[in-house]
Amino acid sequence: MTRTINVAWHQGRAMSTIKLYYDDPYQRTFTSTVEECRRRQDGFAVRLAETAFYPEGGGQPYDTGRLGDACVREVHEKDGEIWHYTDRELLPGSAVEGEIDWERRFDHMQQHSGEHIVSGMICGRFGCDNVGFHLGSEVIEIDFNYEIPEEEIRRLERDANRYVWENHELEILWPTREELETLVYRSKKELTGDVRITRWPGADTCACCGTHLRRSGEIGQILLLSSMRMKGGTRIFLLCGSRALAYVNRVKEENDTVSHLLSAKWDETSAAVKRLQAECVELKVRENEREFQLLREEAKRYEGAGHVLLFENRLSPDNFRKLVNDVMETCGGICAAFTGSDEEGYRYCIGQKDGNLKDFTKALNTALNGRGGGRPFFVQGQVAASREQIEAAVKQLYGA
Ligand SMILES: [Zn+2]
Repeated sequence: MTRTINVAWHQGRAMSTIKLYYDDPYQRTFTSTVEECRRRQDGFAVRLAETAFYPEGGGQPYDTGRLGDACVREVHEKDGEIWHYTDRELLPGSAVEGEIDWERRFDHMQQHSGEHIVSGMICGRFGCDNVGFHLGSEVIEIDFNYEIPEEEIRRLERDANRYVWENHELEILWPTREELETLVYRSKKELTGDVRITRWPGADTCACCGTHLRRSGEIGQILLLSSMRMKGGTRIFLLCGSRALAYVNRVKEENDTVSHLLSAKWDETSAAVKRLQAECVELKVRENEREFQLLREEAKRYEGAGHVLLFENRLSPDNFRKLVNDVMETCGGICAAFTGSDEEGYRYCIGQKDGNLKDFTKALNTALNGRGGGRPFFVQGQVAASREQIEAAVKQLYGA
């Protein structure tokens, strides 16, 4: 049975906003009185007598929704007062109807409740502390000051999900100072004032101000996505409830696409990808052999040919350079090679064994609107000219 000792909390803080989400975290609509409305830079800050809007706190993000016609964009708590950041002004003293974005809140309750169970189980099992918690818009991150063995993660996931299926009921306690001293519970900071204890029996007891589900079954599913080592501890990434379902569906969709593309069964896609990778490697090896053959033939063709001008589009950039290197060794002159097209321009490699191409390159670049350079006997660059213009310019330079 859920025990809520909430009256003392309200009475002890007469100035505070009454927090309806502590009495009933499932309350989506409410009516309240506007106590104050302050103008802000980009809207208004509204304080009510009571609210069902949860403010940011304890790692759980704030609720959004509406107050009358006003849109509630953010909710924050300051000194026990809850401020709703709205886009419209609300008249102090007037009654207003509020409605929280339930889909957003329920998602937060699923993630938050799941986090409690996982954290409680890990801290209980390894005697460590939860030293960080972030409920992001995508995944939940929890940090522990203990290196959780990899093989324990899957076991934890099984146990956490079994706890979900067993459908345990949440207990909420507002213990007295004396009762609190005898309680064993998790807490991230030194606590003052009334302490609210949430207990998932057998899994977690924790001081927490957030909103939680009534029963563990409502979490639906807990998915431990991954973990990583950090500063002598472990960070765990997890998804609960609807987020876990959405994730599984995304992965399934992706795998279905791969399965279809590779004509592989859904549970044999990685084997199909491995086969494809092996085929790619084999093709690359064959392609390299083919290029190597081409290089040898071309180099042989220009043996003793003197100055050489060639256009070559069949080779990779590496082999294109290698071709020039091979030809210049045996041609007995300058080897100028171009690759590209009239539309996109040409890249060039020019080599001459023991030569000095400084003046040649300078004249070529000037004639063909090009740029480039390198070592005295081997230069690389590009020109913005047509094949016809290149042929004319190189012939002229060779003739000179
Ligand atoms: Zn909590």
